[in-house]
Amino acid sequence: MTIASRFLSRAARAAALASPEPPGEPRGEAAGDSRAEEARRTLLARISDFIIRHQLAVTGPNLAAVCGALSGSHPELARAFAAREVAGEPIDQRWLDTLARLDPDGHSRIAALEELMDRLEYALMRFAQTARAAQSEASDHRGAIGAQLAALAEVPALAEVLNLSRAMLARMEAAEAAMARSEAETAALRESLAKARIEADIDHLTRLPNRRAFERRLASAALEAQAKGEPLALAFCDVDHFKAINDRHGHEAGDRVLCALAASLAEQAGDTGFVARHGGEEFVLIFFGMDKHAARAKLDAIRAVQATKVLINRDTGQPFGRITFSAGVADVSEDRDPRSALARADAALYRAKQAGRNRVMVG
Ligand code: GH3
Ligand code: MG
Ligand code: MG
Repeated sequence: MTIASRFLSRAARAAALASPEPPGEPRGEAAGDSRAEEARRTLLARISDFIIRHQLAVTGPNLAAVCGALSGSHPELARAFAAREVAGEPIDQRWLDTLARLDPDGHSRIAALEELMDRLEYALMRFAQTARAAQSEASDHRGAIGAQLAALAEVPALAEVLNLSRAMLARMEAAEAAMARSEAETAALRESLAKARIEADIDHLTRLPNRRAFERRLASAALEAQAKGEPLALAFCDVDHFKAINDRHGHEAGDRVLCALAASLAEQAGDTGFVARHGGEEFVLIFFGMDKHAARAKLDAIRAVQATKVLINRDTGQPFGRITFSAGVADVSEDRDPRSALARADAALYRAKQAGRNRVMVG
């Protein structure tokens, strides 16, 4: 039995024993109760043992992830943990955070939100069309009625009918103006929606595309590369010892460093690459028409330029010291799901950190 299958069968056993009885069902005998309680104690002990052994912080997300994996209630997580143990790679905070960011549920939530925005945009467009049509129809009718009223004014007995009709005409005019206003409001709403769509793809701090935009770009680039039979690579970059920058210079200065680095990455990647902020002090790049070796060479040149720069804290005049980054590169075409390339790049990044940082490794 492999380590992975042992991990999974342990998790399945734990899930069967630790789950509470469904409400309304007759409770089992005392022996059954104490077995279930024992299983819950064992699961709790294993969770705390796991947290301590891997030196993880006791936080809600960490407990949820470890519980999901060990209890078997989240088989995907259990498999990811098992694969990590089999590969002999550490289950540390950085990896857990990355795992949370690659969360497929998050992906489908974003897809649902996008679908909602599409539907809203379509509904607004239909409303604008209908309002415009109703407005021009009302305007035509009003013109025709106005002309008839002018002719009828010659007949004295019709004074009362005329007064009523004029009042009706005034109301139609008001309704038409209200429709024109609502058409203008709809247009403004559609413009806001279009702006929100653009804004939703941009990282607020660095103004680079964000992770959401990156995932979309990656999916379309992967399809395009496959259709053209061209190579495609991506990279996962992480700033070295960034926590020390924050500790020494403060969070705001750290933010400025991130902005400077983002601008420099985007400028140096040029048209051959797409740079996005994946989160925190981590950036991702897509290299069009390059395999992982070509992408590594390109990114290593960017890394070398970055490593020679000396940034100064404009508030204090103190140098930040050299801001370097480590990175992992992977071919996107190796797997059917382009996101798995990100996991391979992340593993290579981990090795780059282990090997001493300020380097680019191929996954
Ligand atoms: P390593 O070389 O191993 O990557 O070391 P590190 O210090 O960069 O790694 P770690 O993940 O421990 O620290 C990352 C730090 O980045 C911690 C967090 O406070 C900081 N950080 C994340 N996002 C931001 C941000 O938007 N602004 C600032 N100023 N700091 C951030
Ligand atoms: Mg990091
Ligand atoms: Mg870092």
